[in-house]
Amino acid sequence: MTSIRACGQTDTGLAREHNEDCFAIDAESHLYVVADGMGGHSYGEVASRISVDSICTFVSRRRDPSPEDLGPPEEILRSAGYDDQLQPHSNVLKAAILAAQEQVLGAIQEDVSLRGMGTTVVGLHVSDGIAAVANVGDSRIYRIRRGEIEQLSADHTWVHEQVVAGYLSAEQARSHPLRNVVTRALGGESEVAIDVQEMAVEEADLFLLCSDGLTGMLRDEEIIELLRDEPPLEEACQNLIKAANEHGGADNITVVLVSIVSDPS
Ligand code: CA
Repeated sequence: MTSIRACGQTDTGLAREHNEDCFAIDAESHLYVVADGMGGHSYGEVASRISVDSICTFVSRRRDPSPEDLGPPEEILRSAGYDDQLQPHSNVLKAAILAAQEQVLGAIQEDVSLRGMGTTVVGLHVSDGIAAVANVGDSRIYRIRRGEIEQLSADHTWVHEQVVAGYLSAEQARSHPLRNVVTRALGGESEVAIDVQEMAVEEADLFLLCSDGLTGMLRDEEIIELLRDEPPLEEACQNLIKAANEHGGADNITVVLVSIVSDPS
């Protein structure tokens, strides 16, 4: 038997006045979310908060549904585009992100001054030994397994598209002036494409969800180096944020670590 431990931290960094990142850990639902808001006048923090809260609420209600909360859950899931190839909880995560998109757009409609706000989101939802992973934008999720780090999510950024097309090297993308341009976000276009994938979890897997304030400052090799000795999760979060700040702290930094541990019982 395995159980899951998780820890998250967020930091404004050294250059920004506001922290527009947001994260949530829902231990009961085994749901972990990071969102990185954008938009003038600190409205980014409104978008990221709305999204994270909306996703957590959707998933927890689905776990324990009551008719007045959700209506017929199947109907809602189907309207979000039910994918028979995916596990039910992966479909729930995808529908939760679509519901979050609706919430962000709704908030913009109600208050025109919020126009232009948006947010990335990356989520991990574990059920019955299967990890559902979903993302929109450039917040990332990595898996560390047997000492190797692997980025599971693809960045929805202009520079990543150029790398895939062969016009830029990964190294050029890291320092490109347009590296922060995201091609997908919640709050932007009314239809948003969400990448969803799933994989079996193994004992000792470690997942890292983070905003680009971490990965803009630290390379994957630097991240794995900080996690190699398997420090306690809280210490590991602190070390990652400290290192990102030591490399300049140019943006808000958020990290959530999720560890699959063997259960002594
Ligand atoms: Ca950011």
